[in-house]
Amino acid sequence: AQVTLDTIVSLCKRRGFVFQSSEVYGGLSSAWDYGPLGVELKNNIERFWWNEMVRKRRNIVGLDAAILMHPKVWEASGHVENFHDPLVDCKECKARFRADQIDLSAPCPECGAKDSFTEPRQFNLMFKTHLGPVEDESTVVYLRPETAQGIYVNYKNCLQSSRLKVPFGIAQVGKAFRNEIVTKNFIFRTCEFEQMEMQFFVHPSEDKKWFDYWKAERMEYYRKMGIRPEKLRFHQHGPDELAHYAKEAVDIQYEFPFGWRELEGVHNRTDYDLSRHSQFSGKDLSYFDDETRERYIPYIIETSAGLTRSVLMVLSDAYDEEELENGEKRTVLRFHPLIAPITVAVFPLMRRDGLDTYAQNLEEELRDHFNTFYDESGAIGRRYRRQDEVGTPYCITVDYQTLEDDTVTLRYRDSMEQVRVHRNEVVSAIQQAIRE
Ligand code: ATP
Repeated sequence: AQVTLDTIVSLCKRRGFVFQSSEVYGGLSSAWDYGPLGVELKNNIERFWWNEMVRKRRNIVGLDAAILMHPKVWEASGHVENFHDPLVDCKECKARFRADQIDLSAPCPECGAKDSFTEPRQFNLMFKTHLGPVEDESTVVYLRPETAQGIYVNYKNCLQSSRLKVPFGIAQVGKAFRNEIVTKNFIFRTCEFEQMEMQFFVHPSEDKKWFDYWKAERMEYYRKMGIRPEKLRFHQHGPDELAHYAKEAVDIQYEFPFGWRELEGVHNRTDYDLSRHSQFSGKDLSYFDDETRERYIPYIIETSAGLTRSVLMVLSDAYDEEELENGEKRTVLRFHPLIAPITVAVFPLMRRDGLDTYAQNLEEELRDHFNTFYDESGAIGRRYRRQDEVGTPYCITVDYQTLEDDTVTLRYRDSMEQVRVHRNEVVSAIQQAIRE
């Protein structure tokens, strides 16, 4: 059965993945905090992405640019002029909607009032603030609504300092802010979120080749992460959907509990960004190829994924409920071992006779290799269930036999199979299981 969003939200709160922001004050709408397990999961997804996109590729480098940027950046990028959503209010119940997401001739979806919408008005999604103590037009700065621009304005710095040659990429993970009119569906759409973006600089004649390459690579990445293939699909943008900078665009969509939605965009942005930044800054941002002696403005193929949105995707995808032979139900999050918040949990069968000290020592040893968790309370079956529910792929139990022959029980989350392993072989057994 399809998992509901409510089930995910309540599991997230109960087990410490995601909490409502400022909950003790009644909560701040649309902002969320990542709890002890949530931050591990989010960091693991980020690391997985970084490894796949940066570490494993010779021609891609990383960057971490500031959130605040020169205000001209957002004029050049087109955000000051174009980054609007059309907003309407219901005159009866004051509910707020994006005009392009509802039928304005139908009754209000909240209160059912007829002909109750205001005229649509354009609303810029960028958060504005002021740099320094004076609050006037000259001190306005924006919280970046995407990480991409930090890459474009640093493209020459990266190129020169890293001695890169086209084709090459620059990758960045970080916070972005959008004053979204409608935030709903938990962490799917929020005003503060994180993106994982990689901008790939290519010769204009090779744009199609690289667009197709990244489209395929990015889908492959989700498969590698263990996401169910039938829940993923492409959505090609038609001419009316294309953003002002894009020549071709495809979304990777995931079937969330509330339907198919965008997870990531792959865009051919042409030379729009670098040309605009050249024009607005007065700096030459062209590229010179010393082999062909050709000077040109590279085209950019962008892959832009939501990190916080990926957390929701991964949770939805991993969630499973299973009826066991004894009639009990178990909830299990089937995370890929590389992104599971806890990799190995260690339990002593009893909290006495030296089993606990043995288990604690073993857990400490394993910390050098994995994210571990120690639990000595409650029946062993309950402890397994608690780890299943947070997606821990491996559990180790220390029992009386351990004291005799130094073997422990290694239990696999998915099959629930249990095998006896010598304590000296625990690390390699788990490392091997992760690779499989
Ligand atoms: P939409 O049209 O749904 O507002 P978009 O097409 O403008 O989104 P992009 O600008 O392409 O989105 O952003 C790239 C990625 O960043 C998205 O695929 C999504 O994963 C993530 N993202 C964008 N906006 C938000 C948000 N408000 N909350 C969480 N993630 C977001």
